[in-house]
Amino acid sequence: METFDHIVVGGGAMGAATAWQLASRGHSVALIEQFGIAHDKGSSHGAVRIFRYAYRNPMYSELAVETLPLWRELEAESGVQLLEQIGNVDHGVERSIREIAESLEHLNRPYQLLNRDQAEERWPGMKFAEHAIFSPDGGRVAADETVRVLYRRVEELGGTIFLNLRVEDIEILGDIATVVTAEGTFRTKSVVVAAGAWVEKLVGGTVDLPPLTVDLGQPTHFTPLPEFADENLWPSFIHHAVEEDVKSVVSGGAYGMFTPGLGVKIGKEQTGHFVDPDNRDFSLIESWLQDTKEYAREWFPGVDVESATAVTCLFTNTPNTDFILDRQGPLTVASPCSGHGFKFVPKIGQIVADLASGSEQTNPAWKFRKN
Ligand SMILES: Cc1cc2nc3c(=O)[nH]c(=O)nc-3n(C[C@H](O)[C@H](O)[C@H](O)COP(=O)(O)OP(=O)(O)OC[C@H]3O[C@@H](n4cnc5c(N)ncnc54)[C@H](O)[C@@H]3O)c2cc1C
Repeated sequence: METFDHIVVGGGAMGAATAWQLASRGHSVALIEQFGIAHDKGSSHGAVRIFRYAYRNPMYSELAVETLPLWRELEAESGVQLLEQIGNVDHGVERSIREIAESLEHLNRPYQLLNRDQAEERWPGMKFAEHAIFSPDGGRVAADETVRVLYRRVEELGGTIFLNLRVEDIEILGDIATVVTAEGTFRTKSVVVAAGAWVEKLVGGTVDLPPLTVDLGQPTHFTPLPEFADENLWPSFIHHAVEEDVKSVVSGGAYGMFTPGLGVKIGKEQTGHFVDPDNRDFSLIESWLQDTKEYAREWFPGVDVESATAVTCLFTNTPNTDFILDRQGPLTVASPCSGHGFKFVPKIGQIVADLASGSEQTNPAWKFRKN
């Protein structure tokens, strides 16, 4: 039976980042992924994701600030640019904008408050609600490219990668985990499960996860009209459309950014379409596509609405959008999704590698329900 210091199950962005961190520390690591590198069946695929410090919840603003140097470190060691700080703008419900300003103030980060007229003058391809805030620290991070870079670094650092290999079961006996696959069984003192939408299936019976839903997402790209083709006209954006106590990412509105080569990505909040990640078709939901086009017609005068092209992806959501990053015995679980995990990828890798190496989770927001 093959043994490793650490086995990471799930090679999306979070598993790959964890394997990178563990391999960087000189541990023997296996990364096991049921599909290929940067596949399109989970949560990490696509060209770009929003990077931002602009959170209503200051805990995540702080985490984003701590993540920036690690993005730069990953870029330096790989020679690939992954994060562009082109700025991000949030607009909508006054309370959300105020809370974001408070988070940025608390961290001493620059921001600018704008009213509707000021925002529309600055970014004429978009319409804005009355209250807006611009954060120059925000921007976009390359998604597929990050996953590829992480795999490359894991390999260069001596990690072992298994692709197209599904983990069927994880058996825990004392401080040893046995990882069962169709091609053999592995033993380890530390198994990290970063299985995205599959996390509940794999370890829901072993640790007490918060209630999770796996929701379909259908982000849509629109070609900018010729007079709005300059990408400097498009900051990353979030529209907070309704007032919510849960500091969720989109709050009934939409998020997006300019994606080089693809156009302006708009992800509208569309909820309640729960899926089984092993049994779904990849066809688009036509009513959602129409809904996103209607939204673009109202809020994005700078795009060609009829150019809409959509893709599907999976959101694994906790009720309050917090992450699950915790360890019980030899099992560590990394489930940082709820639609906002990507910006933290290298930092999550570091946090999860610390947990897998024996640290306790001290942040109550990220713990299992019982320990
Ligand atoms: C549409 C969309 C837009 C988003 N936008 C943003 C954004 O703008 N900014 C931001 O910060 N975040 C964003 N996010 C969130 C971010 O993308 C996720 O937090 C992140 O990609 C989650 O990565 P993951 O590794 O946990 O999951 P995944 O990428 O799904 O990886 C899990 C992996 O585990 C593998 N796996 C599962 N079970 C097994 C098994 N039994 N054996 C082997 N392998 C297994 C799967 O195949 C998969 O590759 C967005 C998410 C979505 C879906």
